[in-house]
Amino acid sequence: MGAVLEIRNLHASVEGKPILKGVNLTVKQGEVHALMGRNGSGKSTLAYAIMGHPLYTIEEGQVIFDGQDVLELEPDERSRLGLFLAFQYPTVVPGVTVANFLRAAINARRKDVNPDDKGISIPEFRKLLTGKMNFLKVDNSFAARYLNEGFSGGEKKRAEILQMAVLEPKIAILDETDSGLDIDALRVVADGVNSLIGPDLGVLVITHYEQFLNYIRPQFVHIMFDGRIVEEGGFDLAEKIQAQGYDWVAEKYATVER
Ligand code: ADP
Ligand code: MG
Repeated sequence: MGAVLEIRNLHASVEGKPILKGVNLTVKQGEVHALMGRNGSGKSTLAYAIMGHPLYTIEEGQVIFDGQDVLELEPDERSRLGLFLAFQYPTVVPGVTVANFLRAAINARRKDVNPDDKGISIPEFRKLLTGKMNFLKVDNSFAARYLNEGFSGGEKKRAEILQMAVLEPKIAILDETDSGLDIDALRVVADGVNSLIGPDLGVLVITHYEQFLNYIRPQFVHIMFDGRIVEEGGFDLAEKIQAQGYDWVAEKYATVER
């Protein structure tokens, strides 16, 4: 049985303003989902709420992962269960290389499982990292770069995907929020996701870039409008959005409960 992430009737607010108004969404290991929707519909709020960002208050509902309510767990506990949320680690101190950052992430995970763990050995870590970089076709010199120092959008994404490859989560939530992301950066994420996708990884990609979805071709597409998922379907729903935009969604749902 694969792992399941189940978001049940999730309501969340920001500074007293209700944003999520009852989100239901289930992602299973091995499935690829896309969450689409206009800017301001609440997509990033959903990601932040699941990750436990202090600014986002859960008013109601549950997020269940592998039978546990994730919302009651610390971020590192969520990670240990096999849930990967981009940006779940604090902003990096300058002078930390990509390799050091990833090694610290692995060691934190190991220490979490066993407090006496001495950490991964350098040769073992090198072997692991080189394997992952080769698999993802990331130039090996990337590991020696200082994390996020002068990184392009694409390089930030490369570091994120590498982190995902190293941590081997069961379910990953990726929020492609950055309006500044160019097509190359999206390509990095798409290629990375595509190469990591398999029976052991479930992904929820949050995006408003339709082009991106052509690369990863999600099996399940969800449309968010005003803090709710209002339409669900297969890849054909993404194609409908590409062809018609979101106006029909707004027309269909804007007047509900007003
Ligand atoms: P999306 O990711 O779909 O573009 P967001 O989740 O970022 O949507 O935003 C949904 C709504 O929540 C918007 O009205 C936005 O203004 C509001 N919001 C999100 N984050 C904050 C915040 N940190 N402070 C105030 N309002 C916020
Ligand atoms: Mg967003």
